[in-house]
Amino acid sequence: MGRAFVYVILGGGVAAGYAALEFVRRGVSHGELCIISEESVAPYERPALSKGYLLPEAPARLPAFHTCVGTNDERLMPKWYKEHGIELVLGTRVKSTDVRRKVLITATGETISYKILIIATGARALKLEEFGVRGSDAENVCYLRNLADTNRLVDVMQNCSGGNAVVIGGGYIGMECAAALVTNRMKVTMVFPEAHCMGRLFTPKIAEYYENYYKSKGVKFIKGSVLTSFENDSEGKVKAVILKDGTCLPADMVVVGIGIRPNTGLFEDQLQLDKGGIKVNGRMQASNASVYAVGDVAAFPVKLFGNEIHRLEHVDSARKTAKHAVAAIMAPSTGDLDYLPFFYSRMFTLSWQFYGDSIGEVVHYGDFSGGNFGAYWIHKGVIVGAFLEGGSKDDYEAIAKAVRSKAIVNNIAEVERAGIEFALRV
Ligand code: FAD
Ligand code: NDP
Repeated sequence: MGRAFVYVILGGGVAAGYAALEFVRRGVSHGELCIISEESVAPYERPALSKGYLLPEAPARLPAFHTCVGTNDERLMPKWYKEHGIELVLGTRVKSTDVRRKVLITATGETISYKILIIATGARALKLEEFGVRGSDAENVCYLRNLADTNRLVDVMQNCSGGNAVVIGGGYIGMECAAALVTNRMKVTMVFPEAHCMGRLFTPKIAEYYENYYKSKGVKFIKGSVLTSFENDSEGKVKAVILKDGTCLPADMVVVGIGIRPNTGLFEDQLQLDKGGIKVNGRMQASNASVYAVGDVAAFPVKLFGNEIHRLEHVDSARKTAKHAVAAIMAPSTGDLDYLPFFYSRMFTLSWQFYGDSIGEVVHYGDFSGGNFGAYWIHKGVIVGAFLEGGSKDDYEAIAKAVRSKAIVNNIAEVERAGIEFALRV
Protein backbone atom coordinates (compact mmCIF):
# COMPACT_ATOMS: atom_id res chain seq x y z
CA MET A 1 0.00 0.00 0.00
CA GLY A 2 1.37 3.44 -0.81
CA ARG A 3 0.59 7.06 -1.50
CA ALA A 4 2.48 9.52 -3.70
CA PHE A 5 2.86 13.29 -3.36
CA VAL A 6 4.87 15.98 -5.11
CA TYR A 7 5.96 17.51 -1.80
CA VAL A 8 6.25 15.79 1.57
CA ILE A 9 7.14 17.58 4.82
CA LEU A 10 8.47 15.11 7.37
CA GLY A 11 7.66 16.49 10.84
CA GLY A 12 4.68 18.56 11.95
CA GLY A 13 6.15 21.25 14.18
CA VAL A 14 6.83 24.95 13.81
CA ALA A 15 8.75 24.72 10.54
CA ALA A 16 6.10 22.48 8.95
CA GLY A 17 3.32 24.97 9.74
CA TYR A 18 5.20 27.92 8.26
CA ALA A 19 6.23 25.88 5.22
CA ALA A 20 2.58 24.89 4.60
CA LEU A 21 1.45 28.52 4.66
CA GLU A 22 4.20 29.47 2.22
CA PHE A 23 3.27 26.60 -0.11
CA VAL A 24 -0.34 27.81 -0.18
CA ARG A 25 0.70 31.42 -0.77
CA ARG A 26 2.82 30.27 -3.69
CA GLY A 27 -0.04 28.31 -5.20
CA VAL A 28 0.46 24.63 -4.35
CA SER A 29 -2.28 22.51 -5.95
CA HIS A 30 -4.73 20.31 -4.08
CA GLY A 31 -3.31 16.87 -3.40
CA GLU A 32 0.31 17.84 -3.99
CA LEU A 33 1.44 18.38 -0.39
CA CYS A 34 1.52 16.01 2.56
CA ILE A 35 2.72 16.61 6.15
CA ILE A 36 3.58 13.59 8.30
CA SER A 37 3.82 14.12 12.05
CA GLU A 38 4.31 11.88 15.02
CA GLU A 39 2.31 14.35 17.09
CA SER A 40 -1.47 14.02 17.13
CA VAL A 41 -2.22 17.71 16.57
CA ALA A 42 -1.68 20.12 13.67
CA PRO A 43 1.49 22.26 13.78
CA TYR A 44 1.59 24.68 16.70
CA GLU A 45 3.86 27.37 18.15
CA ARG A 46 6.10 25.27 20.39
CA PRO A 47 7.36 28.25 22.48
CA ALA A 48 3.91 28.49 24.10
CA LEU A 49 4.57 25.22 25.93
CA SER A 50 7.01 26.72 28.43
CA LYS A 51 5.17 30.04 28.75
CA GLY A 52 1.42 30.59 28.29
CA TYR A 53 0.65 26.86 28.61
CA LEU A 54 2.03 26.77 32.16
CA LEU A 55 0.20 29.81 33.50
CA PRO A 56 -1.88 29.09 36.62
CA GLU A 57 -4.73 31.26 35.33
CA ALA A 58 -6.22 31.29 31.82
CA PRO A 59 -3.46 29.07 30.42
CA ALA A 60 -3.01 28.91 26.64
CA ARG A 61 -4.54 25.80 25.09
CA LEU A 62 -4.93 24.60 21.53
CA PRO A 63 -6.38 25.58 19.14
CA ALA A 64 -5.29 29.09 20.27
CA PHE A 65 -1.62 28.67 19.33
CA HIS A 66 -1.56 26.71 16.09
CA THR A 67 0.96 28.12 13.64
CA CYS A 68 1.22 30.78 12.34
CA VAL A 69 -0.11 33.02 15.13
CA GLY A 70 3.43 33.61 16.38
CA THR A 71 4.01 36.07 13.56
CA ASN A 72 0.45 37.44 13.58
CA ASP A 73 -0.28 35.36 10.52
CA GLU A 74 -3.20 33.07 9.83
CA ARG A 75 -3.98 30.41 12.46
CA LEU A 76 -3.87 27.13 10.57
CA MET A 77 -6.52 24.83 12.01
CA PRO A 78 -6.92 21.23 10.74
CA LYS A 79 -9.79 22.59 8.60
CA TRP A 80 -7.39 24.95 6.81
CA TYR A 81 -5.20 22.05 5.66
CA LYS A 82 -8.29 20.23 4.39
CA GLU A 83 -9.61 23.27 2.54
CA HIS A 84 -6.27 23.67 0.78
CA GLY A 85 -6.02 20.02 -0.17
CA ILE A 86 -3.05 19.36 2.14
CA GLU A 87 -2.87 15.83 3.53
CA LEU A 88 -2.16 16.05 7.27
CA VAL A 89 -1.01 12.61 8.41
CA LEU A 90 -0.98 12.90 12.21
CA GLY A 91 0.02 10.46 14.94
CA THR A 92 2.30 8.75 12.45
CA ARG A 93 6.00 8.11 12.90
CA VAL A 94 8.21 7.60 9.89
CA LYS A 95 10.55 4.75 10.76
CA SER A 96 12.73 4.50 7.66
CA THR A 97 13.59 6.45 4.53
CA ASP A 98 15.30 5.86 1.20
CA VAL A 99 16.33 9.16 -0.38
CA ARG A 100 17.61 7.43 -3.54
CA ARG A 101 14.19 5.86 -4.17
CA LYS A 102 12.39 8.91 -2.67
CA VAL A 103 10.24 6.97 -0.24
CA LEU A 104 9.35 7.09 3.43
CA ILE A 105 7.99 4.14 5.37
CA THR A 106 5.76 4.76 8.37
CA ALA A 107 5.67 2.73 11.59
CA THR A 108 2.48 1.07 10.32
CA GLY A 109 4.26 -0.02 7.14
CA GLU A 110 2.74 2.49 4.73
CA THR A 111 4.99 3.72 1.91
CA ILE A 112 4.77 7.43 1.07
CA SER A 113 6.71 8.64 -1.94
CA TYR A 114 7.68 12.18 -2.91
CA LYS A 115 9.37 14.22 -5.60
CA ILE A 116 10.66 16.76 -3.08
CA LEU A 117 11.13 16.10 0.64
CA ILE A 118 11.42 18.75 3.36
CA ILE A 119 12.92 17.35 6.55
CA ALA A 120 11.48 19.21 9.54
CA THR A 121 11.95 16.61 12.26
CA GLY A 122 13.22 19.06 14.89
CA ALA A 123 14.93 17.61 17.91
CA ARG A 124 14.46 15.43 20.95
CA ALA A 125 15.22 16.28 24.56
CA LEU A 126 18.45 14.78 25.91
CA LYS A 127 17.78 12.25 28.67
CA LEU A 128 19.68 12.06 31.96
CA GLU A 129 20.43 8.42 31.10
CA GLU A 130 22.73 9.75 28.34
CA PHE A 131 24.82 11.26 31.15
CA GLY A 132 24.86 8.03 33.14
CA VAL A 133 22.01 8.86 35.54
CA ARG A 134 19.29 6.23 35.89
CA GLY A 135 15.62 6.59 36.79
CA SER A 136 14.42 9.62 34.85
CA ASP A 137 11.45 7.58 33.66
CA ALA A 138 9.83 7.97 37.12
CA GLU A 139 6.33 9.44 36.93
CA ASN A 140 7.25 12.76 38.58
CA VAL A 141 10.33 13.50 36.42
CA CYS A 142 9.41 15.70 33.45
CA TYR A 143 11.06 16.65 30.18
CA LEU A 144 9.57 19.30 27.93
CA ARG A 145 9.52 19.02 24.17
CA ASN A 146 5.97 18.45 22.98
CA LEU A 147 2.35 18.80 23.98
CA ALA A 148 2.20 15.37 25.63
CA ASP A 149 5.25 16.22 27.79
CA THR A 150 3.67 19.53 28.77
CA ASN A 151 0.31 18.02 29.72
CA ARG A 152 2.20 15.56 31.88
CA LEU A 153 4.20 18.35 33.53
CA VAL A 154 0.99 20.25 34.32
CA ASP A 155 -0.56 17.10 35.87
CA VAL A 156 2.52 16.34 37.95
CA MET A 157 2.69 19.95 39.15
CA GLN A 158 -0.98 20.03 40.11
CA ASN A 159 -0.56 16.77 42.05
CA CYS A 160 2.13 18.25 44.29
CA SER A 161 0.86 21.79 44.54
CA GLY A 162 3.04 23.99 46.78
CA GLY A 163 5.73 21.29 47.01
CA ASN A 164 9.43 21.17 46.10
CA ALA A 165 10.43 21.25 42.44
CA VAL A 166 14.03 20.65 41.37
CA VAL A 167 14.94 22.00 37.95
CA ILE A 168 17.96 20.39 36.30
CA GLY A 169 19.68 22.61 33.70
CA GLY A 170 20.18 26.36 33.55
CA GLY A 171 19.39 26.91 29.87
CA TYR A 172 16.18 28.02 28.19
CA ILE A 173 13.93 25.26 29.51
CA GLY A 174 15.37 25.51 33.01
CA MET A 175 14.91 29.28 33.22
CA GLU A 176 11.44 29.41 31.68
CA CYS A 177 10.13 26.41 33.64
CA ALA A 178 11.56 27.65 36.95
CA ALA A 179 9.67 30.92 36.44
CA ALA A 180 6.47 29.05 35.55
CA LEU A 181 6.79 26.73 38.56
CA VAL A 182 7.25 29.68 40.93
CA THR A 183 4.24 31.40 39.41
CA ASN A 184 2.37 28.17 40.25
CA ARG A 185 3.58 28.53 43.87
CA MET A 186 6.07 25.67 43.77
CA LYS A 187 9.30 25.92 45.81
CA VAL A 188 12.02 25.80 43.17
CA THR A 189 15.72 24.87 43.29
CA MET A 190 17.74 25.07 40.06
CA VAL A 191 20.82 22.86 39.60
CA PHE A 192 23.26 23.26 36.73
CA PRO A 193 26.94 22.64 35.99
CA GLU A 194 27.98 26.11 34.83
CA ALA A 195 29.05 29.09 36.94
CA HIS A 196 25.90 30.97 35.93
CA CYS A 197 22.59 30.50 34.12
CA MET A 198 22.36 30.61 30.30
CA GLY A 199 26.09 29.89 30.23
CA ARG A 200 26.46 29.94 26.47
CA LEU A 201 24.85 33.34 25.87
CA PHE A 202 24.74 35.42 29.03
CA THR A 203 27.82 37.17 30.40
CA PRO A 204 28.32 36.80 34.18
CA LYS A 205 26.94 40.34 34.60
CA ILE A 206 23.77 39.67 32.62
CA ALA A 207 23.27 36.32 34.37
CA GLU A 208 23.66 37.97 37.78
CA TYR A 209 20.71 40.24 37.04
CA TYR A 210 18.40 37.33 36.16
CA GLU A 211 19.62 35.14 39.02
CA ASN A 212 19.00 37.96 41.53
CA TYR A 213 15.55 38.51 40.07
CA TYR A 214 14.78 34.78 40.37
CA LYS A 215 16.12 34.73 43.94
CA SER A 216 13.79 37.62 44.79
CA LYS A 217 10.96 35.33 43.64
CA GLY A 218 12.17 32.54 45.92
CA VAL A 219 14.24 30.41 43.49
CA LYS A 220 17.36 28.78 44.99
CA PHE A 221 20.43 28.18 42.81
CA ILE A 222 22.94 25.36 43.11
CA LYS A 223 25.61 26.09 40.52
CA GLY A 224 28.61 24.10 39.36
CA SER A 225 26.91 20.82 40.24
CA VAL A 226 25.04 18.00 38.59
CA LEU A 227 22.54 15.40 39.67
CA THR A 228 24.06 11.95 40.11
CA SER A 229 21.10 9.84 41.27
CA PHE A 230 17.48 9.81 42.39
CA GLU A 231 16.03 8.57 45.68
CA ASN A 232 12.64 6.92 45.19
CA ASP A 233 9.71 6.11 47.45
CA SER A 234 8.11 2.66 47.67
CA GLU A 235 5.93 3.39 44.62
CA GLY A 236 8.93 4.35 42.49
CA LYS A 237 8.25 8.09 42.58
CA VAL A 238 11.27 10.33 43.02
CA LYS A 239 11.37 11.83 46.53
CA ALA A 240 14.86 13.40 46.42
CA VAL A 241 17.73 14.11 44.04
CA ILE A 242 21.32 13.47 45.04
CA LEU A 243 23.99 15.81 43.71
CA LYS A 244 27.66 15.18 42.89
CA ASP A 245 28.83 16.47 46.29
CA GLY A 246 26.32 14.26 48.14
CA THR A 247 23.75 17.02 48.76
CA CYS A 248 20.24 15.58 49.01
CA LEU A 249 17.42 17.82 47.78
CA PRO A 250 13.85 16.80 48.62
CA ALA A 251 11.78 16.75 45.43
CA ASP A 252 8.08 16.35 44.79
CA MET A 253 8.80 16.81 41.11
CA VAL A 254 11.83 17.23 38.83
CA VAL A 255 12.01 19.10 35.53
CA VAL A 256 14.95 18.28 33.27
CA GLY A 257 16.16 20.65 30.50
CA ILE A 258 19.68 19.61 29.59
CA GLY A 259 19.69 20.28 25.88
CA ILE A 260 18.54 18.55 22.71
CA ARG A 261 19.74 16.38 19.84
CA PRO A 262 18.45 16.99 16.31
CA ASN A 263 16.38 14.14 14.86
CA THR A 264 18.75 13.15 12.04
CA GLY A 265 18.61 9.38 12.66
CA LEU A 266 16.59 8.54 9.54
CA PHE A 267 19.18 10.14 7.26
CA GLU A 268 22.56 9.65 8.88
CA ASP A 269 23.99 7.31 6.26
CA GLN A 270 22.23 9.01 3.33
CA LEU A 271 22.86 12.76 3.65
CA GLN A 272 25.80 14.93 4.63
CA LEU A 273 25.71 16.10 8.23
CA ASP A 274 27.33 19.04 10.00
CA LYS A 275 27.06 20.59 13.49
CA GLY A 276 24.91 17.63 14.50
CA GLY A 277 22.31 18.45 11.85
CA ILE A 278 21.62 17.92 8.16
CA LYS A 279 23.93 20.06 6.11
CA VAL A 280 22.16 22.29 3.59
CA ASN A 281 23.13 25.13 1.26
CA GLY A 282 21.75 28.68 1.35
CA ARG A 283 18.57 27.46 -0.36
CA MET A 284 18.15 24.84 2.41
CA GLN A 285 18.90 22.03 -0.04
CA ALA A 286 20.67 18.96 1.34
CA SER A 287 23.40 16.86 -0.31
CA ASN A 288 20.64 15.07 -2.26
CA ALA A 289 19.01 17.67 -4.55
CA SER A 290 15.47 16.39 -3.90
CA VAL A 291 15.80 16.90 -0.17
CA TYR A 292 15.60 20.12 1.88
CA ALA A 293 16.05 20.50 5.64
CA VAL A 294 14.70 23.29 7.85
CA GLY A 295 14.37 24.27 11.51
CA ASP A 296 16.29 22.72 14.41
CA VAL A 297 17.55 19.84 12.27
CA ALA A 298 19.18 22.01 9.56
CA ALA A 299 22.79 23.21 9.55
CA PHE A 300 22.97 26.11 7.12
CA PRO A 301 25.41 28.81 5.99
CA VAL A 302 24.86 32.16 7.71
CA LYS A 303 25.85 34.86 5.21
CA LEU A 304 26.29 37.43 7.95
CA PHE A 305 28.98 35.23 9.54
CA GLY A 306 30.90 34.69 6.27
CA ASN A 307 28.79 31.64 5.36
CA GLU A 308 29.93 29.76 8.44
CA ILE A 309 27.66 26.76 9.02
CA HIS A 310 25.37 27.15 12.04
CA ARG A 311 22.57 25.01 13.40
CA LEU A 312 20.11 27.15 15.34
CA GLU A 313 17.54 25.83 17.80
CA HIS A 314 15.13 28.73 17.80
CA VAL A 315 11.69 29.45 16.50
CA ASP A 316 12.52 32.43 14.29
CA SER A 317 15.07 30.36 12.41
CA ALA A 318 12.55 27.48 12.04
CA ARG A 319 9.98 29.86 10.56
CA LYS A 320 12.36 31.61 8.18
CA THR A 321 14.31 28.58 6.98
CA ALA A 322 10.99 26.83 6.29
CA LYS A 323 9.64 29.73 4.24
CA HIS A 324 12.92 30.02 2.39
CA ALA A 325 13.03 26.33 1.47
CA VAL A 326 9.53 26.57 0.01
CA ALA A 327 10.49 29.71 -1.92
CA ALA A 328 13.54 27.90 -3.31
CA ILE A 329 11.42 24.88 -4.30
CA MET A 330 8.61 26.87 -5.94
CA ALA A 331 10.71 29.68 -7.48
CA PRO A 332 14.01 28.35 -8.82
CA SER A 333 15.47 31.88 -9.09
CA THR A 334 15.42 32.19 -5.26
CA GLY A 335 18.87 33.10 -3.93
CA ASP A 336 20.54 32.20 -0.66
CA LEU A 337 18.90 32.94 2.68
CA ASP A 338 20.40 35.98 4.40
CA TYR A 339 19.50 35.23 8.00
CA LEU A 340 20.07 37.34 11.10
CA PRO A 341 20.13 34.94 14.10
CA PHE A 342 17.53 35.99 16.66
CA PHE A 343 16.91 34.58 20.14
CA TYR A 344 14.51 35.73 22.84
CA SER A 345 12.93 34.68 26.08
CA ARG A 346 10.21 35.84 28.42
CA MET A 347 9.86 34.92 32.08
CA PHE A 348 7.94 36.56 34.93
CA THR A 349 7.57 40.13 33.63
CA LEU A 350 11.04 40.09 32.04
CA SER A 351 11.68 39.95 28.35
CA TRP A 352 14.92 40.01 26.35
CA GLN A 353 16.09 39.72 22.76
CA PHE A 354 19.46 38.88 21.27
CA TYR A 355 20.61 39.25 17.67
CA GLY A 356 23.76 37.94 16.00
CA ASP A 357 26.63 36.06 17.56
CA SER A 358 28.08 36.19 21.08
CA ILE A 359 31.77 36.41 20.17
CA GLY A 360 34.41 39.08 20.82
CA GLU A 361 34.58 41.79 23.44
CA VAL A 362 31.42 42.62 25.41
CA VAL A 363 30.30 46.10 26.38
CA HIS A 364 27.44 46.39 28.88
CA TYR A 365 25.24 49.45 29.21
CA GLY A 366 22.11 50.74 30.92
CA ASP A 367 20.49 50.33 34.29
CA PHE A 368 21.21 46.87 35.72
CA SER A 369 19.23 47.60 38.87
CA GLY A 370 16.18 48.93 37.06
CA GLY A 371 15.87 46.18 34.45
CA ASN A 372 16.60 48.27 31.39
CA PHE A 373 20.00 47.23 30.13
CA GLY A 374 21.85 45.68 27.27
CA ALA A 375 25.17 44.61 25.81
CA TYR A 376 27.01 44.69 22.52
CA TRP A 377 29.48 42.08 21.32
CA ILE A 378 32.25 43.71 19.29
CA HIS A 379 34.53 41.67 17.02
CA LYS A 380 37.10 43.02 14.57
CA GLY A 381 35.86 46.58 15.09
CA VAL A 382 32.18 45.98 14.34
CA ILE A 383 29.04 45.03 16.29
CA VAL A 384 28.42 41.28 15.84
CA GLY A 385 25.89 40.71 18.64
CA ALA A 386 23.43 42.74 20.69
CA PHE A 387 21.34 41.91 23.76
CA LEU A 388 18.60 44.00 25.32
CA GLU A 389 16.29 43.50 28.30
CA GLY A 390 13.10 45.50 28.62
CA GLY A 391 13.43 47.44 25.36
CA SER A 392 10.73 49.03 23.20
CA LYS A 393 9.88 47.83 19.70
CA ASP A 394 12.03 50.63 18.26
CA ASP A 395 14.94 49.69 20.53
CA TYR A 396 14.83 46.05 19.42
CA GLU A 397 14.64 47.05 15.77
CA ALA A 398 17.63 49.31 16.32
CA ILE A 399 19.85 46.63 17.88
CA ALA A 400 18.88 44.21 15.09
CA LYS A 401 19.88 46.84 12.54
CA ALA A 402 23.18 47.53 14.30
CA VAL A 403 24.09 43.83 14.04
CA ARG A 404 22.71 43.36 10.54
CA SER A 405 24.68 46.37 9.24
CA LYS A 406 27.83 45.46 11.23
CA ALA A 407 27.92 48.93 12.75
CA ILE A 408 31.49 50.17 13.03
CA VAL A 409 32.91 50.80 16.48
CA ASN A 410 35.63 53.45 16.60
CA ASN A 411 35.65 53.95 20.34
CA ILE A 412 34.43 51.26 22.73
CA ALA A 413 34.09 53.66 25.67
CA GLU A 414 31.83 55.84 23.55
CA VAL A 415 29.58 52.84 22.70
CA GLU A 416 29.35 52.03 26.39
CA ARG A 417 28.38 55.63 27.20
CA ALA A 418 25.85 55.87 24.38
CA GLY A 419 24.21 52.52 25.18
CA ILE A 420 20.97 52.03 23.26
CA GLU A 421 21.48 55.45 21.62
CA PHE A 422 24.40 53.95 19.71
CA ALA A 423 22.04 51.50 17.99
CA LEU A 424 19.29 54.09 17.52
CA ARG A 425 21.76 56.29 15.62
CA VAL A 426 22.82 53.53 13.18
P1 FAD B 1 9.73 20.97 16.04
O1 FAD B 1 8.85 22.14 16.26
O2 FAD B 1 10.32 20.28 17.22
O3 FAD B 1 8.91 19.91 15.17
C1 FAD B 1 9.42 18.66 14.81
C2 FAD B 1 8.27 17.76 14.49
O4 FAD B 1 8.75 16.59 13.82
C3 FAD B 1 7.51 17.27 15.69
O5 FAD B 1 6.14 17.39 15.45
C4 FAD B 1 7.92 15.80 15.80
O6 FAD B 1 6.95 14.98 16.41
C5 FAD B 1 8.08 15.46 14.34
N1 FAD B 1 8.90 14.28 14.06
C6 FAD B 1 10.19 14.06 14.41
N2 FAD B 1 10.62 12.86 13.95
C7 FAD B 1 9.56 12.32 13.29
C8 FAD B 1 9.36 11.08 12.60
N3 FAD B 1 10.32 10.17 12.49
N4 FAD B 1 8.14 10.86 12.05
C9 FAD B 1 7.14 11.77 12.15
N5 FAD B 1 7.29 12.94 12.78
C10 FAD B 1 8.47 13.21 13.34
N6 FAD B 1 12.55 29.08 20.50
C11 FAD B 1 12.56 30.43 20.55
O7 FAD B 1 13.20 31.06 19.71
N7 FAD B 1 11.87 31.09 21.52
C12 FAD B 1 11.19 30.45 22.48
O8 FAD B 1 10.61 31.08 23.35
C13 FAD B 1 11.16 29.03 22.46
N8 FAD B 1 10.49 28.34 23.40
C14 FAD B 1 10.52 26.97 23.38
C15 FAD B 1 9.83 26.27 24.37
C16 FAD B 1 9.87 24.89 24.38
C17 FAD B 1 9.15 24.14 25.47
C18 FAD B 1 10.59 24.18 23.41
C19 FAD B 1 10.63 22.68 23.43
C20 FAD B 1 11.26 24.87 22.40
C21 FAD B 1 11.22 26.27 22.39
N9 FAD B 1 11.88 27.01 21.40
C22 FAD B 1 11.87 28.37 21.43
C23 FAD B 1 12.55 26.33 20.30
C24 FAD B 1 11.60 26.21 19.10
O9 FAD B 1 10.37 25.75 19.53
C25 FAD B 1 12.21 25.26 18.09
O10 FAD B 1 13.39 25.87 17.59
C26 FAD B 1 11.24 24.99 16.95
O11 FAD B 1 10.11 24.32 17.43
C27 FAD B 1 11.91 24.15 15.87
O12 FAD B 1 10.97 23.87 14.88
P2 FAD B 1 11.06 22.52 14.02
O13 FAD B 1 9.86 22.51 13.16
O14 FAD B 1 12.42 22.41 13.45
O15 FAD B 1 10.95 21.35 15.09
P1 NDP C 1 19.94 24.46 26.55
O1 NDP C 1 20.97 23.99 25.62
O2 NDP C 1 19.42 25.85 26.48
O3 NDP C 1 20.43 24.31 28.05
C1 NDP C 1 20.83 23.09 28.60
C2 NDP C 1 21.35 23.36 30.00
O4 NDP C 1 21.54 22.15 30.70
C3 NDP C 1 22.68 24.07 29.99
O5 NDP C 1 22.68 24.93 31.10
C4 NDP C 1 23.63 22.90 30.14
O6 NDP C 1 24.91 23.21 30.58
C5 NDP C 1 22.90 22.10 31.17
N1 NDP C 1 23.31 20.70 31.25
C6 NDP C 1 23.85 19.93 30.29
N2 NDP C 1 24.07 18.69 30.77
C7 NDP C 1 23.66 18.67 32.07
C8 NDP C 1 23.62 17.69 33.09
N3 NDP C 1 24.04 16.44 32.89
N4 NDP C 1 23.11 18.02 34.28
C9 NDP C 1 22.66 19.27 34.51
N5 NDP C 1 22.67 20.25 33.58
C10 NDP C 1 23.16 19.95 32.37
O7 NDP C 1 18.76 23.39 26.40
P2 NDP C 1 17.31 23.33 27.07
O8 NDP C 1 17.10 21.91 27.43
O9 NDP C 1 17.15 24.37 28.11
O10 NDP C 1 16.35 23.70 25.86
C11 NDP C 1 16.02 22.72 24.87
C12 NDP C 1 15.72 23.37 23.56
O11 NDP C 1 14.57 24.17 23.66
C13 NDP C 1 16.83 24.26 23.05
O12 NDP C 1 16.93 24.05 21.66
C14 NDP C 1 16.33 25.66 23.28
O13 NDP C 1 16.80 26.55 22.30
C15 NDP C 1 14.84 25.46 23.16
N6 NDP C 1 14.12 26.44 23.97
C16 NDP C 1 14.25 27.75 23.64
C17 NDP C 1 13.60 28.69 24.35
C18 NDP C 1 13.79 30.10 23.95
O14 NDP C 1 14.43 30.35 22.93
N7 NDP C 1 13.26 31.07 24.70
C19 NDP C 1 12.74 28.36 25.49
C20 NDP C 1 12.70 26.95 25.79
C21 NDP C 1 13.37 26.05 25.03
P3 NDP C 1 26.11 23.33 29.47
O15 NDP C 1 25.86 24.62 28.75
O16 NDP C 1 27.32 23.33 30.32
O17 NDP C 1 26.02 22.14 28.57
